[in-house]
Amino acid sequence: MKRWIALFLSFATAAVAADQKLIALTFDDGPRPYILYGYTQPGHASTPGLLDLLDRERVKATFFVMGWRLLPNTYGNRNEFKTDKTCLDAARDLFRRGHEIEDHTFSHVQFKLFEKQHGAGSAVGDVDRASELIKGVTGHRAEFVRPPDWITWDALNRQLEGRGYRVLSISSENPLPMRDVNSADYLCAGAHPVNCPKPSMNAFVLQQIEQREKKGVTTHILAFHELSTTVIALQTLIPELKARGYRLVTMQEYVRLVGPQAPVKHAAAKDRNKGL
Ligand SMILES: [Zn+2]
Repeated sequence: MKRWIALFLSFATAAVAADQKLIALTFDDGPRPYILYGYTQPGHASTPGLLDLLDRERVKATFFVMGWRLLPNTYGNRNEFKTDKTCLDAARDLFRRGHEIEDHTFSHVQFKLFEKQHGAGSAVGDVDRASELIKGVTGHRAEFVRPPDWITWDALNRQLEGRGYRVLSISSENPLPMRDVNSADYLCAGAHPVNCPKPSMNAFVLQQIEQREKKGVTTHILAFHELSTTVIALQTLIPELKARGYRLVTMQEYVRLVGPQAPVKHAAAKDRNKGL
């Protein structure tokens, strides 16, 4: 383990110039057309679209999508605000506008539960099913997988890696540059969030970045969701990150710059975060 970390650090040092400050901005659980394009509800202020914000800031991001949304004529789940665009239309548009589409499984059931319901080996099938649908949009299979709730285990990771995927992780065993930063944005959704970090999600994210910087790490994968509260927060967070000298990149570019051979360790039970 130590040898791998040393190897990773030497590689990372070589690959990333000392002053290189990178952020991979990632969004889970979409595509959600009403978040990507914005929406207006009678009696409420209109909610801005994420895609316009990213265009305005000249940022390319990575979207970890749920495969079921890429089936034809799918407009989202019944709790979501409907627009005239299907999720598949939105995925095609995302890709056309230069963003990356990666794999958050087809069913978005956490892997342990999924295998309990569908049998051993079914989790890989669920990832592959999403990947094939992604290929229908982008022309190539997914390169990265973010497991729902970050819950996975060694044997499953080996299977996924054997099929060419890189599995994203939040485990403390993982070298910091390849360890997801949990924005906790899902705790800040809705009109009256109770558990949103104080004083704000943005402060919480910046605080985590500062803690990593103190350890000499200036490259970060930030995990967000397609949520309207997140879009509003990013209107100020993206300029703040830029002001701190960060360049925002896609996952593929991030891994190319930070180190493609970096070993990835995965979450033990104690490291899991709930609620994603
Ligand atoms: Zn998710």
